[in-house]
Amino acid sequence: MMTARQYIESLRERKTRVFAFGERVEDVVKHPATAPHVRCAAMTYGLVHTEEGAALLTARSHLTGKTVNRFLHIHQSAEDLVTKVKMLRFLAQRTGSCFQRCVGLDGINAVYSTTYEIDAAKSTEYHQRLAAYLKDMQEKDLMICGAMTDSKGDRSLPPSQQPDPDVFVHVTERRKDGIVIRGSKQHQTGAVNSHEILLMPTTALREADKDFAVACAVPADAPGVTMVFGRQSNDYRKFLGEKIDSGNPAFGLVGGEAIIILEDVFVPWERVFMCGEYEFSGMLVERFASLHRQNYGGCKGGVSDVITGATALAAELNGCASASHVRDKLTEMMHLTETLYCCSIACSSEGKKTKSGAYIVDPLLANVCKHNVTRYIYEISRLSHDIAGGVIATLPSEKDFRNEEIGEMLHKHYKATDTASAEDRIRVLRLIENMTAGTALVESMHGAGSPQAQRVMIYRQGNLEQKKEFARTLCGIK
Ligand code: SF4
Ligand code: FE
Repeated sequence: MMTARQYIESLRERKTRVFAFGERVEDVVKHPATAPHVRCAAMTYGLVHTEEGAALLTARSHLTGKTVNRFLHIHQSAEDLVTKVKMLRFLAQRTGSCFQRCVGLDGINAVYSTTYEIDAAKSTEYHQRLAAYLKDMQEKDLMICGAMTDSKGDRSLPPSQQPDPDVFVHVTERRKDGIVIRGSKQHQTGAVNSHEILLMPTTALREADKDFAVACAVPADAPGVTMVFGRQSNDYRKFLGEKIDSGNPAFGLVGGEAIIILEDVFVPWERVFMCGEYEFSGMLVERFASLHRQNYGGCKGGVSDVITGATALAAELNGCASASHVRDKLTEMMHLTETLYCCSIACSSEGKKTKSGAYIVDPLLANVCKHNVTRYIYEISRLSHDIAGGVIATLPSEKDFRNEEIGEMLHKHYKATDTASAEDRIRVLRLIENMTAGTALVESMHGAGSPQAQRVMIYRQGNLEQKKEFARTLCGIK
C-alpha cells in the first residue's frame, strides 16, 4: 500500500488537464486551490501505516487474499460496513475535512454487485472485467473518483430528448476495441487528485436512453478529459498565503469539487462495465446512493466532533465555558452528532448480502441518515455560531494582526481571558468559520444527493402498506 508521500508523488506523474481561476493548473500538489485537498486525500494513504489507522483502514481482499487499503475493498460482511463508518469518523476527526476517497469506494461496490446481476440476466462479462480492474487497482493502490452526477441540462427532459445530448455522459461510438464517450459530470469530489474516474449513470433510464446507460473507468489523464476546479467560500485567502484565515490550512474545506468534461474519450472494452443495459441503471444508482448516504454519519460525525471541540474551546477562550446555556448547547451538539453516527451504524449493521456476495447497507436507514445530515449540520453550525459569537463574521485579516503599526493594538483588544493569546482565539474562530459556513453547509445539504432524493427513497422503502395494515388490525377495519 502506498504511503502519503508516494501518493503525492504519483500525482505529479499524471498529466491530468485541470483548470482553476481561468488558468491551467500545472501541479495540483502545489497549486494553492488544490494542495490542501491533496494533503487531505493523502491521509487515507498515510494513516494506513500507523498502528491506530491500520486497524480501520485496511482489509483483506476477497479477490487476492492480500491486505489492501479499505478504500478499495468490496464489503464482505455487515461488519465491513460498520468498520467503514468507523474509518470515516476516524479520518474526519483528524482532518476536519473531506478526504474524498469514499466516492470511489462506493462506486466500485455498487458496480460490483450490479455487474453480477447484469451478467446473470444478459450473459455479459462485465463482472469478471470489473474484478480484473479491481485487482489492478488494489495492487497499485490507486485513488478512484466515483463520478455519478451528470450536468443534466433541462430537468424536465430525459437524456435522449435533451437538445444537447452532452449534458449526460453517453456512448457515441461502439468499436471493436472499445467505446467512445462524451458528456460531463459535475460536483466531482477529489477528481483533480484522483488517478482514475469510475463513471456511472446518474438516474434510472428507459430504452430510448440506452446510450446513456454506461459505466466504465478512465484514467484521470486520458485524452479528452478536462476538469475545472470549483470555487469555495473564502478560497482567495489561500492565494494570499493567509494560513490562520484559511481556517484549516492543512486540509482545506470539504471535498474540492470539479466538473469533469469528456470529449470523445476512448474506453477499451476491458474497462467497460455497462453499455446499454438501461434496465440496471436504476439498481446501480440506488446502490451507489445508499452506500454514499451511509457515510455521512461517519464523516460528518467526525467533522461535527471537531466543530463541537472548537466551539467548546472558543467558549473557554472567551471565558464563558461554565455558563449553563453553553453547556446545554454543547450537549445538544453532541446529541445531534451521535444521532447521525447511530444512523450510519444502524444502516450498516442491517446490511445484507447481494447476489454477488458483496454486502450493501439497508437503503431505508441509509437515506434517513443522509436526510438527517441535511438538517443537523445546519443546527450544529447554528449552535456553534451562537456560542462562538458574531466575532466570527467581523474579525480583521491575519495580515492586520501582523502589521507593525496596528498589530499590537489588535492583539490587545482581541485578547479575552488571561490564559490564552488573541492569536489562539483567532485560530479557533477561523476554524469554526471554515467548517460551519458557505460551501461546508451546502455540501451537507447536497453531497450524496439532495434532500428530495432521500425523501423519494424513504417513501418508496418505508412500506406504508404494512403500516396501514397494523393500524387496520388494531382498530378493527376488515
Ligand atoms: Fe467521503 Fe464524506 Fe467526503 Fe463524501 S463528504 S467523500 S463521504 S469524506
Ligand atoms: Fe460528499
